[in-house]
Amino acid sequence: SDGLSLSVQIVPFGEDLKMLLSRDISQLEKLENMRRDFVANVSHELKTPLTVVSGFMEMLYDGFEDFSPEDARRYLQLAIDQGGRMQRLIEDLLALSALETATQPDEDKVDVQGLLRSVAEEARLLSSGRHEIIVEPGARASLLGSHKELHSVLANLASNAVRYTPDGGQIRISWEPLAAGAALVVSDNGPGIAAEHLPRLTERFYRVDRGRSRETGGTGLGLAIVKHVLTRHQGNLEIVSEPGRGSRFLACLPQHRVLWAEA
Ligand code: ADP
Repeated sequence: SDGLSLSVQIVPFGEDLKMLLSRDISQLEKLENMRRDFVANVSHELKTPLTVVSGFMEMLYDGFEDFSPEDARRYLQLAIDQGGRMQRLIEDLLALSALETATQPDEDKVDVQGLLRSVAEEARLLSSGRHEIIVEPGARASLLGSHKELHSVLANLASNAVRYTPDGGQIRISWEPLAAGAALVVSDNGPGIAAEHLPRLTERFYRVDRGRSRETGGTGLGLAIVKHVLTRHQGNLEIVSEPGRGSRFLACLPQHRVLWAEA
């Protein structure tokens, strides 16, 4: 049988191959566990808002005459908010899966200063005056890559800064040269992040403070998307942060993706 021929083949290679095989198997098990966790997480993340929506709907249906128009409106607003939350989650899930299946990113020529300004504008809308948002456009340049994806990188970092930085805080969006390329950078003077969390922040659904993330409309997928996009562009995400000292997120892109404008 196949099982027999497999074991016969293994014998001549001795312990090394056995080790190799068991390492592959444990790798497979790890992947399978990750997949299972992911499905459980997604289900949970969808179930919570769905429970709220159907709960309110049933309540209104059963006791339609008992509610004042103001109360009914308030409950409907809560249901609409939860619907929005499910929608954002599904959009982020679709974005992630598109990133995983897509082959090469588009090769648009993205004007960096324009990108910074448009993301700053979006961040100002989200903040509605609660933060000071500063743009430091840096040296003029274009990025070679997917406009849509690079926009989502900077937009995710900026929206995190707005969502986690307390009112009155300062957020800086900048473009900075690096030894081996350049970075789109978002810095804030918010709560900062303890060192033990840093390596896990780009995992799907990993959150330092679950309540704060949900309350501010987070899906738990933003930094996972950021990491995927940067990897596809041969870049990487660097996070410099300390509790009480704010955070600095650097979306680093390699030199071959940066076209500096002639001086
Ligand atoms: P979320 O939707 O929860 O914001 P993300 O993947 O965007 O998901 O971020 C993961 C976690 O990283 C957040 O839940 C939060 O704990 C932490 N985080 C991200 N950005 C910041 C920031 N600027 N300041 C403090 N914590 C942050």
